[in-house]
This record gives sequence, structure tokens and C-alpha cells, in this order.
Amino acid sequence: MTKFATESAISPDLLAKYEPVIGLEVHVQLLTKSKIFCGCSTQFGDPPNTNVCPVCLGLPGTLPVLNKRAVEMAMRAALAINCTVHEHSRFARKNYFYPDLPKGYQISQYELPLATGGWLEIEVKGKTKRIGITRLHLEEDAGKSLHEGFPHSGEKTYVDFNRCGTPLSEIVSEPDMRTPDEAYAYLTTLRQILLYIGVSDCNMEEGSLRCDANVSVRPRGSSEFGTKVEVKNLNSFRYLAKALEYEIERHIGIIESGGRISQETRLWNQAANRTDSMRSKEKAHDYRYFPEPDLLPVHAGATWRDDVLRALPELPGAKRARFVSTYGVTAYDAEVLTDSQGLADYFESVVKAGAPGKAAANWMQTELLRRLNDSGKEIAASPVSPKALGELVVLVDSGKITAAVGKKAFATMFETGRSATEIVAAEGLGAQVGEDTIEKAAREVIEKNPDNVAKFKSGNEGVFKFFVGQVMKATRGQANPQVVNDIVRRLLS
Ligand code: ADP
Ligand code: ZN
Ligand code: MG
Repeated sequence: MTKFATESAISPDLLAKYEPVIGLEVHVQLLTKSKIFCGCSTQFGDPPNTNVCPVCLGLPGTLPVLNKRAVEMAMRAALAINCTVHEHSRFARKNYFYPDLPKGYQISQYELPLATGGWLEIEVKGKTKRIGITRLHLEEDAGKSLHEGFPHSGEKTYVDFNRCGTPLSEIVSEPDMRTPDEAYAYLTTLRQILLYIGVSDCNMEEGSLRCDANVSVRPRGSSEFGTKVEVKNLNSFRYLAKALEYEIERHIGIIESGGRISQETRLWNQAANRTDSMRSKEKAHDYRYFPEPDLLPVHAGATWRDDVLRALPELPGAKRARFVSTYGVTAYDAEVLTDSQGLADYFESVVKAGAPGKAAANWMQTELLRRLNDSGKEIAASPVSPKALGELVVLVDSGKITAAVGKKAFATMFETGRSATEIVAAEGLGAQVGEDTIEKAAREVIEKNPDNVAKFKSGNEGVFKFFVGQVMKATRGQANPQVVNDIVRRLLS
């Protein structure tokens, strides 16, 4: 994943004058098998209206029953982003009318959320910054309206209630971000943590990760925030960054020309590459929140909370630091290798199979990841197991085969799934070329290239590499490079 989504299109002069302020509201779908208040399946992509029951359809006389697993996953997420999980929290009704909301209200949390006061650390351009998290609460998802045809031309709208009652966590950040890059880094960092702890698949296309962005600008040095605008409909990381760039530029433009920002909700319009106004503050909903009378308060006692905390895996940031200190890899290596839990586990298994850390990191980045990427495979589907790669790295590292031969062997391993030892034995790649043969090859190369010999003798050290390369080629990459170096130097001087 690229680290930065956009290069700022806003003039540096204006950015020197105005400071953007950004806060994100992120909804994640929790990976429970059943819904939050009934036993219906949460399976994505099932035929419309097949995973429904009287409870999630909001039929009169039904009562919700809280899914304990959903609370536990939300606690897991809250603790991973350093929030305080409250022993008592409460569900509330958020009232509004919409065709995909059959009860006429959404069960959410309002004045007593599950967790508050957390943070996570982002890294932008080599600098670490802490972003505050205001709250994390639990709520149910609504259904989905499906529109067919174009508005006002005989169009139809269908409603699929399968998603009604799917458990969500809403995670609200503090207005701590100052650039679109920081917002982008916040969302990728949050997503990576949620994936590591297994509470969501964070699939933006399927809607299991949704993000609304709040943005304002203020004169630099000012301690008060400007009027904010909320942008919805950001269903990719790229749109988030683009929409923020667009809004920041729009806000600065309005203020520079003497206007005022009106508080409103806007939508990202991908086709037109801009945001459009959706509703103004005057038309904002009054949700008439009140405590949900059909559910008991949520009780998350200290014992349960501590159990959840203890069960958290090592998080990406800690893993990166450990990889650098334990395996001697660079910070960049560590970042690549901890991109997913699967990749990090693979790396540690390669090391366990005997490979030195830095060598394992190099082989994974130059050979394995490139080939996986080219063939569109995930690490879990790698044709080369970590043990097999470890064996190959050991063969090269111990000098039994050269790096060039190792690379050839790796290509065959990737294609056939055979082991390095097997390939080296079958193709006779292990037989290192003897010194006599190297010397013979070196003499031939020197004889055939009198011009380069002359250049070398007149002090051009650069051509030395040419001779080594030619000798390596003549010996099919099976000669020990150090021996080739020594022999070529001896013959030339
Ligand atoms: P609302 O009541 O309109 O939902 P909140 O105070 O709940 O507003 O904040 C919603 C989100 O907007 C949070 O992520 C918060 O960090 C962010 N936010 C609040 N004020 C500003 C501002 N002036 N500029 C940018 N973001 C803001
Ligand atoms: Zn149901
Ligand atoms: Mg809010």
C-alpha cells in the first residue's frame, strides 16, 4: 500500500497562512457470525432478505438480546487503541425515518459509550504523532437500499434487510490531524490494528470499513477551530485524501474571498472529483436520543476486561520495534514485513528455519513479495513455504551455492513448489566451480579485452567490475564471487 495518497495541490503560500483541522469517524463491521440483537447470520452476499427475523425486521412485540461476542470484539478494539473500557455503558435509541431502518430507530450508544479516551500513533514522513480517540461505541447497522435505473425515469428502489442488525463499532477521533496525509495514515494504521486483532475484515468495498471525515481550516496560530464540514461517502483511502484536499482548498478559497463556511454535510462525488452539499446544519437531524428500554445496561467488569486485554496479540507497532531490535532489520524492512500478521509470521518462520534476519528480510522483499505480487497471490497462498525459503537462504549464506544460483533456484521453487536442496542436486547447481576453472575463464576474459585491461592499468578501477561480471557469466554464476575477485585482481596486477 502506498504511504501517501496525494501530493498537495494547494498553494504552499495559502497553506502557510491556514491550518487544516481533521477528525475522522470510522464505522467497522465486527466479525461475529450472528447479528448483534438476534441469531440471524451476518454472511455478506447472501440473497436479499434471507438473513432476517422478526427482531431485526423490527416487528412489534419482539425483544433484542445482546450478542456477548460483539461486546467482546468491541472491547478488544477499544483496548488495542488504548481506550478506557467503562464498566457500565448503555444503549440508546437514535430515532430517524428511512426505508432501510424498519424499527424507525437505530440502537446505538450515546451518552454512555462502551469506551473513551484512547489514542494511536501514526507515522508521516518519518515523524511519529499521537492521534487522540474520543470514543468507541457499539451500534447496529441498517439495511441497504438498492436503486435500479435513473431517478425520475421509471426507477425502482429495493430494500435488502440482511445487513440490519449487523454489529458495528464507531470509532471517533479527536480533531488532531492537520493534513490529508495524516488522515490517510490514521485510517491505514487503525485498519492494520483492527485486522491484526481479528475484529473486522475491514473491507472497504463491501462496506465493513466506512469513514466520514470532518474538516475545517483556521488561520495558523489561532487556538480556536474553524467551522467544520462533514464529508460522507468516502469508500476508499484515495477518496478520503482527495476529498480532504478538495475541501481544504474550498474552505481557504471561501475565507480568502471574504466569505464564511457554512456548517453542513457533503458527499464525495467521485465522477466529478468534488464534494457536493447534502444537507445544511439547519436541516440536521434531531435524533431524539433516549436510553433503550428493551436492553439492560452493558456490564463489562474488570475480570472480563483484563481477560480481553491479555488475549490481545502483539500489535503492529510493537512488532516493528521488536523486529528491528531482535533481527537487525531496518525500520523500513520492519514496516514491510509487519504489513500483515501473516507476512510477519512468515518472516519469523524463515528465521526459525535458520536464516539470518537481515538475509531473510532481503530474500522476502526482493524475491518472494515481487513474485507473489506478480502472480496476484497472498502470502498465505505462497508456493514456497517459510521453511523452504529458510533452507535456501541457509544454502546461500553458508556459501554452498552462490546468490545468483540461489535466485535461479528460488524461481524454480516458486513455480514447482520443490525444495532448494532438491533443485540444486537435480540441476547440479551446487557444484562450485574450482579455482583452476575460474583462473582459466579469467585469463580468457583478460585476453579478449585488451582495451579494458589498458583502462584498468591507467587507474580506472570501475572496469574491475566488468572483468568480475564476465568471469561470473562464463562460470554460469556458480563461482564463489570472492574467489573470482581475488583471481581477477591477481591476474590484472
Ligand atoms: P458532531 O456533534 O457534529 O457530530 P462531534 O463533536 O461529535 O461533532 O465531532 C465529530 C467529529 O468531528 C470528530 O471526529 C471530531 O474530531 C471532529 N471535529 C470536531 N470539530 C472539528 C473541527 N472544528 N474541525 C474538524 N474536525 C472537527
Ligand atoms: Zn434477525
Ligand atoms: Mg458526532
